[in-house]
Amino acid sequence: MLFSRFSEYLNQMTETSKRLELKSILSSLFLESGSDIKKTVYLIQGKIAPDYEGKEIGLADKTILEILSEISGIDKDEITKKLAKVGDIGTVAYEIKAKSSQQMLFQEDITIEDVFGTLKSISEKKGGGSTRIKRDLMKRLLLSGSPDDAKYIVRIALGKLRLGVADSTILQGLIEAFNFVDLSEDVENYYNFSPDLGNLSEILKKDDRDEIRNFGPRTFVPFKVMLAERMQGIPSILEKMGGEVAFEYKYDGLRAQVHIRDGKIKIFSRGNEETTSQFPDVVEAMKRQVLIKDGIVDGELVPYNPETEEIYPFQEVSRRRGRKKDLLNIADEIPITLFLFDIVYLNGRDLSRKGYSERRRNLEEAIQPTEKIKLARRIISSDASELEAFFELSIENGCEGIVAKSLSEESIYRAGARGWNWIKYKRDYQSLVNDTFDLVVVGAFWGHGRRGKTYGALLLASFNPDKGVYETFCKLGTGFTDEVLFSLPRIFSDLIVQGEPNNVDAALKPDVWIYPEKVMEVKGAEITVSPVHTCNKGLIEKGMGLALRFPRFTGRWRDDKKPESSTNSEEILEIYKNQKKGL
Ligand code: ATP
Repeated sequence: MLFSRFSEYLNQMTETSKRLELKSILSSLFLESGSDIKKTVYLIQGKIAPDYEGKEIGLADKTILEILSEISGIDKDEITKKLAKVGDIGTVAYEIKAKSSQQMLFQEDITIEDVFGTLKSISEKKGGGSTRIKRDLMKRLLLSGSPDDAKYIVRIALGKLRLGVADSTILQGLIEAFNFVDLSEDVENYYNFSPDLGNLSEILKKDDRDEIRNFGPRTFVPFKVMLAERMQGIPSILEKMGGEVAFEYKYDGLRAQVHIRDGKIKIFSRGNEETTSQFPDVVEAMKRQVLIKDGIVDGELVPYNPETEEIYPFQEVSRRRGRKKDLLNIADEIPITLFLFDIVYLNGRDLSRKGYSERRRNLEEAIQPTEKIKLARRIISSDASELEAFFELSIENGCEGIVAKSLSEESIYRAGARGWNWIKYKRDYQSLVNDTFDLVVVGAFWGHGRRGKTYGALLLASFNPDKGVYETFCKLGTGFTDEVLFSLPRIFSDLIVQGEPNNVDAALKPDVWIYPEKVMEVKGAEITVSPVHTCNKGLIEKGMGLALRFPRFTGRWRDDKKPESSTNSEEILEIYKNQKKGL
């Protein structure tokens, strides 16, 4: 497929934020892309491989500016000035190409294959002389193709495609294109256990229905972990789960899925990044202690002192040291222990479709606990006062509360889903000041006085999974250390976009729009109905949204969370309703 045709589709996509329209544009594109389907899907996502492969194209803005100067003969400083004015390097590339194309006699067409292949080669060049080679490859690409092609190639190469199309919308487009509507749940399950849309697109194109139906977890393919709903109070949890339940400590650390095959271990984060090299002692302990030949376990990495048996709440430790996300730095001072609570795959057996009790039994048989690898502490009971005492104990032992797990047969491991088979219950929920929220930054307002050179407030939003857009929920101006406060413009500099991103729904207009990518943990006093915020707009009162009063940054950047898996609008609505009920 010609890249110029692909560019036409991208132009169409940037003109709408309506999910249904996006889905049908995507669906036509996928059908037209023929054997280029996999490459097309990656390019739509602005990448060349699934995230977990960690492939970076590795070009800098500076290099692109130099190339643009070389192919147009325009002075580099002039182009830099233009960029400062326009703000988007893709638009600059477009304008330069449009001007210089008029002087060229013919323009060579390029294909999806050309672009994808070149970007892939660029990403693979390493070591001495590679900068020059990368530059030449990119230059050749930019010399060919249309102005629109240049705009998108540059954006993709710099990781700034920012189409505002959620992965779930791409998935819907694929389902529609290849007629998998009748198996859409199975397709979603496949995607949740193998979040690689490129690979999935090929299977759908091949119409391999058996593969889709029977797919489950596989070692070394990171999956989307299962998440918990939230509830206040043990009686309501017991009622929801039907009498007897398992309560497990809710450890406050970093989620880790550990894949083991023939003595090789890989650890992946909640966001599916590989973090194996960051936890060498946990890896060593896994090799020694785990009786698994081929399997995947799920747990939480937590700072833990084996001498005193103290668990250090991650949030406390990171705040005390004024650091951002650095469990790793903490690990220098306090050793990390892995607390395991699930197993989803074992020696060719897909355990994700088995009930919780059976999985836990398999986990217990596969692990010999020591100080580095432990099982999540738990109790099974139907007695509210016994469970209450366990909850209190979890807090006393440095945990955030408990995660209740349903003992029913249907209590399967649902990848990527927040469901009622797991319910979290934290101490925080006992006050009106509810749980923390993980919100996505979509804009910023310049400060005044002391804050004259930085932002006075950030505009934060929650993701609405039905609409595929971010809806604003609060303006955040407190909770920053001076260090963070004065670095805000730098922290967000690379995410600034001209105009409201098409995946943002905001009534407030910030001074600076920020592409939704960074997630911050925020605490607030209460959720109120608001005329200025768009979160769940119209669902509670006509024309009104929901807002968080007195939001405060907790100091924790949720870099482990993708923006699409931040606290979503549905959860906020649920919390608001509970708050009204006085729960
Ligand atoms: P929070 O910010 O409250 O930790 P979250 O949004 O990160 O929540 P949730 O699914 O809402 O994630 O809460 C469950 C999280 O708690 C899991 O993602 C996991 O990292 C952690 N956790 C700690 N102990 C357990 C446990 N025993 N069972 C399941 N999850 C646990």
